[in-house]
Amino acid sequence: MIVMKFGGTSVGSALRMKEVANLITLDSQKKIVVLSAVSGTTNKLVSIGESLYKQDKDEAIHKIKQLRAEYDQLNQELYSSDESKEKAKLLLNENFEYLLSFTKDLFTIYEERALLAQGELLSTNLFKIYCDEAGIQAALIPALDFMRIDKNLEPDEYYIQSNLEKELSKYPETPIFITQGYVCRNAFGEIDNLKRGGSDYTATLVGAAIKAKEVQIWTDIDGMHNNDPRVVEGTHPVESLSYNEAAELAYFGAKILHPSCVWPAQQHNIPIALKNTMQPEAKGTIISQFTDKDRITAIAAKDGITAIKIRSGRMLNAYGFLRNVFEVFERYKTPIDMITTSEVAVSLTIDDKSHLSEILDELRKYAHVEVDENKTIVCVVGDFLSDKKGYAEQIFGALRNIPIRMISYGGSNNNVSVLVNENDKNEALKALHEGLFTAKTMA
Ligand code: ASP
Ligand code: MG
Repeated sequence: MIVMKFGGTSVGSALRMKEVANLITLDSQKKIVVLSAVSGTTNKLVSIGESLYKQDKDEAIHKIKQLRAEYDQLNQELYSSDESKEKAKLLLNENFEYLLSFTKDLFTIYEERALLAQGELLSTNLFKIYCDEAGIQAALIPALDFMRIDKNLEPDEYYIQSNLEKELSKYPETPIFITQGYVCRNAFGEIDNLKRGGSDYTATLVGAAIKAKEVQIWTDIDGMHNNDPRVVEGTHPVESLSYNEAAELAYFGAKILHPSCVWPAQQHNIPIALKNTMQPEAKGTIISQFTDKDRITAIAAKDGITAIKIRSGRMLNAYGFLRNVFEVFERYKTPIDMITTSEVAVSLTIDDKSHLSEILDELRKYAHVEVDENKTIVCVVGDFLSDKKGYAEQIFGALRNIPIRMISYGGSNNNVSVLVNENDKNEALKALHEGLFTAKTMA
């Protein structure tokens, strides 16, 4: 069995949904098809939630009606028979009445989660009606009946596996199963979600639960590129990545993959194929346990980074200092990305600034603290052998004209990161591309 996950743009219009139907019927392999919400819908639901939080009911109703109009249009374009159109209309009536019901009552985080789940519920139900019309034998299995996170917000793998099996066994003859990405229940049985972009995570969790032969992630780009195509000319998709390389890249800004989605596949050694719906024949990127040793694979960047330098005489020859520092970040649930140390100071970076001022207040109680905002982490991902010389020269030689605030080398064998000013990011990406890829191929 395989898993095929289609992102928002891949189900973003009637035409695209029909293409999905085509792609899932090209072969007769059994498959679970995981769908995102139609592109833009989740953002619109977030925005409806914002109106409801500030108790602007008129604004919320207006936004809900605008969204409904988009779906009415999709209904017209997707189906040919009046019967399907009528079925879709009833579904939309029910769904949008539910959305409107949020404007009549108290709106809290619980309602917000239920609101955010509607995008995937809509896309999958509409797609199922299309499959019925097109004579595609498929069963819809509700993610809310098997997808679950525990008290620590981690996936409850045992629950997912046993309940998914139950769902699948209801349709022994069916070759295609359709389910919602992103939505789940939490430890209390309430509707919840796997955070923005979480459909990828659903796909690999489902893949792990059924020990799939492969998890395919279908998007509108042709795989993971070796640099940011918006900034650098001449990038190309990387044909194969190891799980570790992919995890580093997913985290550092390559928006194509949800950062948590690599580990469930890695744990069960299931390959992830990144494919392009617009160019299905293209190779895309395969993520698996196999990798070429000793190579520089890709460059990525993450903006909006804050660097914090913590200096204290107490750090010199002392133990426990770093623990005190880390505890502050832990209390405010703020992940640390990069870290470098000297004998008397430690510099680290964070991405989430929501508790920055509280964190600084606490740190200043026992250390001198300096803050630099608007930084970018630029990372070079590859398979670096620890006993090989020359990587540092290659990377830092390419960056010779860029001021560097921090360097992290050796944290893993798959990543070298530097922290630069946001203003220098484009130049850094281009210089690295030139130094690591272009110059090399010309030589
Ligand atoms: N629809 C959700 C989002 O836009 C989940 C996903 O598409 O992966 O974040
Ligand atoms: Mg996505």
